[in-house]
Amino acid sequence: MKRQLQVMKFGGTSVGDAKCISRVADIVQAAAKDFSVVVVVSAMAGVTNTLIEAANRSEAGDRDYALDLLEKLRKQHDAALTELIKTPATREKLSARIQEILGEAKRLCEGTALLRQLTPRTLDTVSSLGERLTTPIVAAVLSERGTESEGIEATELIITDSHHGGAEPLEDRTRERSEARLRPLLDRGAVPVVTGYIGATVDGVLTTLGRGGSDYSVTILGAALGADEVIIWTDVNGVLTADPRMVPNAHTIPEISYREAAELAYFGAKVLHPKTLRAVATAGIPVWIRNSFQPSNPGTKITPEGQEGPRGVKALTAISDVALIAVGGPGIIGLPDVVGRTFSTTAAIRVPVLLISQSSSQNDICFVVSSVDGKRTVEALRAQFSQDLMHQKVDHVTIDANISIVAVVGENMRGTVGISGRTFSVLGRENVNIIAIAQGSSETNISFVVARSDMKKALLAVHDEFALDSNPVRESTPVANPVAR
Ligand code: ADP
Ligand code: ASP
Ligand code: MG
Repeated sequence: MKRQLQVMKFGGTSVGDAKCISRVADIVQAAAKDFSVVVVVSAMAGVTNTLIEAANRSEAGDRDYALDLLEKLRKQHDAALTELIKTPATREKLSARIQEILGEAKRLCEGTALLRQLTPRTLDTVSSLGERLTTPIVAAVLSERGTESEGIEATELIITDSHHGGAEPLEDRTRERSEARLRPLLDRGAVPVVTGYIGATVDGVLTTLGRGGSDYSVTILGAALGADEVIIWTDVNGVLTADPRMVPNAHTIPEISYREAAELAYFGAKVLHPKTLRAVATAGIPVWIRNSFQPSNPGTKITPEGQEGPRGVKALTAISDVALIAVGGPGIIGLPDVVGRTFSTTAAIRVPVLLISQSSSQNDICFVVSSVDGKRTVEALRAQFSQDLMHQKVDHVTIDANISIVAVVGENMRGTVGISGRTFSVLGRENVNIIAIAQGSSETNISFVVARSDMKKALLAVHDEFALDSNPVRESTPVANPVAR
């Protein structure tokens, strides 16, 4: 009988050091007893940040600092290797491979320092190296423990457009490549270990899927291979009712829908990259979020429909690296195309708008963008409205960088009477000033803008109001899997 296929990803903290990688090997080996398994790995925690810092320092001309960072990475990976790999020959081979990969980083940083220019293509190549370092290590550990395994770079599998820093997969080509390269390995019981986060254009130029993009890599490969399940192994017990760093009594949600999970990810829940569920939407493949440090915990199951039963608030989330932009003044009432001009300006400079809202003063158009996009958005709008500003038809284009978006998420929540009322009255009681409320967004969230200094208070108050810390009943029983389940 054909074995079911699990495609599983291990995030940065799950492969953070030798002990963690050893735990990963236990999980994979246990799963491989019952399933065909494809493994996707991230870079060790913090490594991608270090690589990006090395690239940026090189561009600033600080070559020696960049090379020191690379040397630290070499030592970190060599230390893991020494602890993990028993066979001297394998250890030497892997150590040489690490040198080779970091040699590539060194050449790129030197070139960048010389030219004082960092192209998006070079930045992608440098930031991809963390995944290229962990992949051969994980594959070697599995092989040494008797599970046939091969490290594979996703440039061979995931074919993307050429949008560096946020590439999109080309489904058909990715399916063809993945089938051709991975199926023969799976058929003979081997475990492919694939780099997360990266892909390549049809011409073989390396691309990345965006920060945190290994979550997307695993669903892209899961869909390409028609997996039975995707499992994202991380450092918490699934998707929680709020970020546990903000709300200590946040609770694991046993099952949620694709839509709820996507909404949480969109509004900043770091546990999932916002595009993760896009790849599996058509096939409806279940995606588990589980804790590699506590593999006996079943975690969260994300399914197309989510859990049956009473609908209401499922979870809260917040984004703080955002800025509120307002275009307005009394004169804009007589200016019919101001909304159109505002958003065609943001579209022309390719700035995603996270939330559009009604401000407390009716004369403003308010919207929220990522902090990194704030300055150029304001500049573009001031240029767009320069004549109107001069003639005081528009009297301001302003930016407030000290804000956060808080989102209350749950399927069909808008249809459940009283949720908005309860949310805003508890915030009132707690003296949290609501700067703006989202307009016209989906049934699945209520989102609002508060001062950044009020974000935590708002999360705690709303979490408490809807008693999200009480233990929800697990209605779905996970499939048996000795260690992994
Ligand atoms: P990985 O390295 O495994 O990809 P991440 O750090 O990217 O892990 O994501 C996991 C982290 O996401 C958790 O440690 C947690 O702090 C954060 N997080 C934010 N919101 C949530 C949430 N609603 N549920 C679970 N974790 C969350
Ligand atoms: N290593 C990459 C990052 O830090 C991708 C990931 O971890 O998902 O962004
Ligand atoms: Mg992540």
